Amino acid sequence: MKIRIGYGWDSHAFKPGVPLRIGGLAIEHPEGLAGHSDGDVLLHAITDALLGAVSAGDIGSFFPPGDPRWKGADSAIFLNIALEEVQNAGYQLANVDTTLVLAAPKIAPIAGEMREKVAALLDVPPGDVSIKAKTPEGLNVDHVAQAHAVVLLERVEESDELRVMQTEMDEPIDVGDLDEVLKEMSGERRPAIKKPVFDTEDFT
Ligand code: MG
Repeated sequence: MKIRIGYGWDSHAFKPGVPLRIGGLAIEHPEGLAGHSDGDVLLHAITDALLGAVSAGDIGSFFPPGDPRWKGADSAIFLNIALEEVQNAGYQLANVDTTLVLAAPKIAPIAGEMREKVAALLDVPPGDVSIKAKTPEGLNVDHVAQAHAVVLLERVEESDELRVMQTEMDEPIDVGDLDEVLKEMSGERRPAIKKPVFDTEDFT
């Protein structure tokens, strides 16, 4: 399959005396979002969308709320683990679209900055990230922030380098090529293998 889609949703209640973080952005506001981690409702929804797109479970299965390691944790950690799952499955993020639902603060004036921040965390251009916001009309949830996120993933194509290497290996060895073959075997001409950016060992 060349493309996969993922959807995530999350909600957190506002609480006085807690710093507000949405989309990795610190926002001036009298209240923040309560949670075991930093309560970043948007990053949680995107994390779930990424995990869902590669059928890798959800944020709760990776980071149980009762685990003391995640108390006050920066939600960018969760996002990084989800990106690693995407990479391990052979996919990369094409674009992400999100909708925040909250009465306050107003997101429109900071949506551009939030988009830049989320794009940096996802390591994609800002043009591949969309941040939208609505007030919860008629829902009677004025003291809650909700986030919806949809991601589209595309399959990572085998690199040209690796294809060339495979073709060379399939061809019968010519004596004239022996020196080249020995160089390859000794690692001098080994193609660069892209390693995962993140290391999960500290988190499992
Ligand atoms: Mg959450």
